[in-house]
Amino acid sequence: MSEHTITVAGVAVDARHWIGGERVASTQTFPDVSPIDGSTIGGISRGTAMEAAAAVAAAKAAFPAWAATSRAERARILHAVADGVEKRIDELAIVETTDNGALLRSHRRGVMPRVAHNFRFFADWLLKLEHEDFETRGHTNHVSWDPAGPSVLITPWNAPLMLATWKLAPALAAGNTVILKPAEWTPLTASLLADIAAEAGVPAGVLNVVQGYGSEIGDALTSHPDVRRISFTGSVPTAKRIAESAAANLTPLSLELGGKSPLLVFADADLDLAVDLAVEQYDNAGQVCLAATRFLVEESVAEEFTRRFVEKASTLTQGDPRDEATDIGPNIHLRQLEKIDGFVQRAVAAGARAVIGGHRVAGRYYAPTLLTDVAQDSEIVQEEVFGPVLTLQTFSTEEEAVRLANDTRFGLAATVATGDPERAERVTGQLVAGTVWVNCFFVRDLRAPFGGSRHSGVGREGGTWSFDFYCDLRNTVTAP
Ligand code: NAD
Repeated sequence: MSEHTITVAGVAVDARHWIGGERVASTQTFPDVSPIDGSTIGGISRGTAMEAAAAVAAAKAAFPAWAATSRAERARILHAVADGVEKRIDELAIVETTDNGALLRSHRRGVMPRVAHNFRFFADWLLKLEHEDFETRGHTNHVSWDPAGPSVLITPWNAPLMLATWKLAPALAAGNTVILKPAEWTPLTASLLADIAAEAGVPAGVLNVVQGYGSEIGDALTSHPDVRRISFTGSVPTAKRIAESAAANLTPLSLELGGKSPLLVFADADLDLAVDLAVEQYDNAGQVCLAATRFLVEESVAEEFTRRFVEKASTLTQGDPRDEATDIGPNIHLRQLEKIDGFVQRAVAAGARAVIGGHRVAGRYYAPTLLTDVAQDSEIVQEEVFGPVLTLQTFSTEEEAVRLANDTRFGLAATVATGDPERAERVTGQLVAGTVWVNCFFVRDLRAPFGGSRHSGVGREGGTWSFDFYCDLRNTVTAP
């Protein structure tokens, strides 16, 4: 324990950076506040360009040895990291809940076990990656997956460790060294992960974790000329800023951004299933990039769908996310609350009707909201709210449903509820979305590609697509 240790629900978390295998403090700190009750958890090292340079230098120095480590050895170490995560699931869960306000029960039973799985999956996938060979007039073309180099990973607060490890596990497996910068709203579990990785045998400098504001250390990292990959999950405005920094050094980028995904409910759907899928969109207090926030419901069933939705939504319990009975926790911070409420009040002023909700509750909590009478070109239909705010529009033909579904600048996901397999195939084929779910939601297989089209992102993560991004593919042609 040091003066830099913060204790969260009995768990000791180091508030400093982790650079080159050592804890490093900044001269300044920033406050980490819990959205559950607005209390200050502690002061976290506020990184600057100086710590960014130190972390990149550490990653650069550690790169040749890590890149030269055998695949089997890297896989073994990543499995050891997974073991470490599994041993500390309860600690990671309570710390993440305190930091971002998402449900403790989901962190314990769903998220943290999947964080461990992310390491295991990419360790095993690495061992399956083929080195391909082709023949040309007696010459051999040997294609190999070479690690690209120091990689900067920047992540948001809505699912901190899950999103970080989707990047971290394949980056490390590929043989890259990493500088991870978590969001300033949720710095804690990344720091715990640095401890776990060190205990598991990840060598010094291979994983570096730095803390601080995006406009300070984030900017310095993404502009650094020694960085060979930048993987970012977050908002569109930040992505544009990062793309400018990356352009100066021609650093390859992966961008996982926002969404305004539709849920299409056809009259032939199992309406109970459609309502279950619809109510699920309040998960994590609506702070899910993939959330199907726009309900598009066939006119003939819209009234019945709305009635059953309201009935089911009214059974949700809102409150402290550490409580087993809670379904909806707080939103991340007061500015987000104000942003959410601003969207809703402007929509109502423009003629929308709040079927449920439409207002703040106490603290950082917003009432689960459903708005109808919204125009397709209105702000509430076109912009990502990132709170528990959903809209409902109706359609009368399949063509109209597809047109409305595709009519935003995003293309992250779409969900289709229908009892007709032919319709499902026809409709999904026309939707602009990186992921389309039919009669289900949020099912993710790490072997499959994940990402968004248009303003929802650039590139894909998952399975071989992740290695494609983190590697420089090399073709070696040898004469007979
Ligand atoms: P944000 O863009 O404000 O911040 C994300 C990260 O970027 C933070 O770590 C922040 O510190 C950093 N950052 C900010 N400015 C920076 C800069 N100039 N240079 C470098 N880094 C900088 O996003 P947010 O509010 O934390 O997250 C919410 C957004 O993330 C939503 O739009 C949501 O849809 C999106 N998201 C997308 C996915 C996906 O997989 N597509 C997943 C989760 C969240």
